[in-house]
Amino acid sequence: MINVVLFGPPGSGKGTQAVKMLEKYGFLHISTGDLFRNAIKNETEMGLKAKAFMDKGNLVPDEVTIGMMNAVINDNPDVKGIIFDGFPRTVAQAEALDVFLNSKNTPVSKMIALEVSEEELIKRLLNRGKDSGRADDADRDIIKNRIDVYNSQTLPVAGFYKEQNKFASIKGEGSLDEIFARICAVLDEIV
Ligand code: ADP
Repeated sequence: MINVVLFGPPGSGKGTQAVKMLEKYGFLHISTGDLFRNAIKNETEMGLKAKAFMDKGNLVPDEVTIGMMNAVINDNPDVKGIIFDGFPRTVAQAEALDVFLNSKNTPVSKMIALEVSEEELIKRLLNRGKDSGRADDADRDIIKNRIDVYNSQTLPVAGFYKEQNKFASIKGEGSLDEIFARICAVLDEIV
């Protein structure tokens, strides 16, 4: 089984590229952001907990996020591969994912990081905010906070996978197809 961590700041295009990956490779796509937004829509207990953090552009606490992720992995035992989109976002999440996947003998295969300049990120997120209905995309201060949170809490996760020689970085600017081709070049070496 192939486990790919798709990594990059808010607005780097993880969700868009993940959909292209699942179409081509048939992997399961797990987006923690989508799972939380669904939980909020369905007014579950977890959704209520997550909302306060998401509205401010802060991370949902690790124990909530890790518990949710483990449950989704357990619910999908027979997949060819998994694309992790928006997870892990802290070193504690990365460590928990390692322990969980190693216990199933299916370790993380690769992290693919999308590199996009901060200026381009802010432009993309404000644009998405115009029609996505996502409150966290509509406000420049919340966007700025999400990028700060990414730089302080999430970037160290790249180091975690670099140490394991599982890190690949690609340019996340250009046309969707150009970016996807760069991702495929990395993936085709491991599938
Ligand atoms: P983006 O990457 O564009 O910010 P996401 O949909 O991945 O969008 O995430 C939206 C929000 O959901 C985050 O700002 C955060 O509050 C929450 N979230 C998503 N994934 C995680 C995670 N792994 N850990 C903690 N919070 C998360």
